[in-house]
Amino acid sequence: MQSERGRKFPEQFFFEHPHDKGSKISLKDFIELELPKILQLSSQQLKGAFKRGTIKFYSDYGLDAIQIRKSIGKIEAGTMICLGKSVEVIRGFPKIRRTLMLEPVLKKHFNSEIALEEKMNGYNVRIARVNNRIMAFTRGGFICPYTTKKANQLMDMEEFFNHHPQLIICGEMVGTDNPYVSQYYPEIGKLGFRIFDVREKLSNKPLPILEKRKLLEEYGLPPVRLLGIYDTHEAAGEILDIVRKLGEKDREGVVMKDPDMEIQPLKYTSSQAHASELEYAFSYPFDLGQAFFFSRVIREGFQSFEMDESDVEIKLRAKRMGESILYPMLETIRLIADDKVAAEDLVIEVDSPDEAEDFVRYLRSLGVIATVVEVKKGKAVIRRLHQSTSDKISNFLNGGLY
Ligand code: ATP
Ligand code: MG
Repeated sequence: MQSERGRKFPEQFFFEHPHDKGSKISLKDFIELELPKILQLSSQQLKGAFKRGTIKFYSDYGLDAIQIRKSIGKIEAGTMICLGKSVEVIRGFPKIRRTLMLEPVLKKHFNSEIALEEKMNGYNVRIARVNNRIMAFTRGGFICPYTTKKANQLMDMEEFFNHHPQLIICGEMVGTDNPYVSQYYPEIGKLGFRIFDVREKLSNKPLPILEKRKLLEEYGLPPVRLLGIYDTHEAAGEILDIVRKLGEKDREGVVMKDPDMEIQPLKYTSSQAHASELEYAFSYPFDLGQAFFFSRVIREGFQSFEMDESDVEIKLRAKRMGESILYPMLETIRLIADDKVAAEDLVIEVDSPDEAEDFVRYLRSLGVIATVVEVKKGKAVIRRLHQSTSDKISNFLNGGLY
């Protein structure tokens, strides 16, 4: 999602000097003199990024920060340099590459063992304590008011952060009352959080798998499921079976990780996950169709090949794929023909109408067209419009040429 929330740098912004207590430093000097040392980037690189708008000043929900919009060298997009009593760097969550073919990739990529975790389908959240407040950052590095509140209700993280102020909790917000990606999980229901990584501030170094799980257990914090630790040479077949079974339960897939977390993780997803993303995308074909389409179809081709499917299984896959494209599109065309608009309703839990308005303001700041439809019994229905889909379909229905 694109955002207008981070602002351009105010020329005159001073804050407490990171090393020289009691004295002040301007934001401009901080970027030219201090930030290069902190991020191990050149002053030149940072100045250029600032000019291009790749770095923005962020000030929201009581946090002043420098937000990295696009990756610069090793520094990931979504990195936040939080400015307060001390400077704290919350690095962006690294991209996870995908395998199309498990067998050849796993042996090449991993050491002798692979830790297999379930991949949960929700949205990525980093939680850290900054300036004595526990805050939740979205992938792009925005503080999300809803997520911050819910994460703190779902988990008691005080003690964890008291003992480990330098750690960051990375996890997935999942469930049906999820304003970004709504999916039902029987063990979660409306809203839940599952932790997949614990990382260090600044270095972004993740804890090894077993150490992470032990630490989370100590503090009663909920991890994602560890599906097993496999011998790399035997893993591909096992993983194909597991992913097939996850798919049958409409679950998304797996993330394969080096038990020591020294090698980049890889992801692999189920056919049902591809279908449900196509279904979503083709409900709003002119807003999402193109961006989703090609990659999902390619995944299906390689998965069908590697699973060595029978004719019956291939037919089933083809049917699932075709239906997930055609039916939702047709439904939307009918809707527009009926003078309605392409829109999706998100449901969130709120304590007051103001909270719903606040969330909508936040969505709008990300460039999303949304309005509050109703607030009733602690639930707010928020309608998100897919404008291009409505406009284009209506144009074609009225005789426009493609
Ligand atoms: P990318 O991570 O490549 O930018 P993306 O944002 O489209 O891709 P996904 O395709 O959903 O995201 O895959 C990566 C995401 O999966 C992670 O960013 C994380 O939010 C989520 N995830 C769910 N379960 C896990 C897990 N067990 N380990 C790591 N990530 C997980
Ligand atoms: Mg995801």
